[in-house]
Amino acid sequence: MSGRLEVVCGPVGSGKSKEIERIVSTLKHVHVPFLVFKPEFKHSSDIGEHVIKSSVDKKGVDFMLHIAEKFPDTETIIIDGANFYTSDIIDAVEKWVKANRVICVGLDTDFSGKPFATMAMLMAMADDVTKLKGICAVCKKPATKSQLVEIDEKAPDEIIEFSAFYEPRCRKCHKVPQYKPSEKLRWIMDR
Ligand SMILES: [Zn+2]
Repeated sequence: MSGRLEVVCGPVGSGKSKEIERIVSTLKHVHVPFLVFKPEFKHSSDIGEHVIKSSVDKKGVDFMLHIAEKFPDTETIIIDGANFYTSDIIDAVEKWVKANRVICVGLDTDFSGKPFATMAMLMAMADDVTKLKGICAVCKKPATKSQLVEIDEKAPDEIIEFSAFYEPRCRKCHKVPQYKPSEKLRWIMDR
């Protein structure tokens, strides 16, 4: 059996979580065995007991490989927040895609509009790429960027935890903030 790699990406507020819920609902309906992985710090989307959380480094990816091996009947593997993983996820995806349908979902670009390296790689490797759009919070036109807003200077490390600090913006309304991300935030967002 040959697999397939699909990438679903877009800015914050473009419906990525809803798309995962829709895919999971379809898989359940047709009784396709599946696994959903997501970073341990990611709170959005709730599809219940099917989600396995891991760290986003090599250790986390090794754990994901281990879990997938424990469930050899799995047909579809979904990776939520794929942009946050280190490049180790690429090796895992290459391995899985030989036999599985693999769906990677995540942000294509960071707050400055710069592509996430892992997502750029996955998009190049993919059989199918779906780019979702949000609605620009300023002008209501289709949004392809994630705007970092309302930064609390006292707690910048927590920005990653709250998507309320981001809003969808179109290319014209998107502004790169003067704010310099903390080391931790940059560490996560550079992935
Ligand atoms: Zn706009």
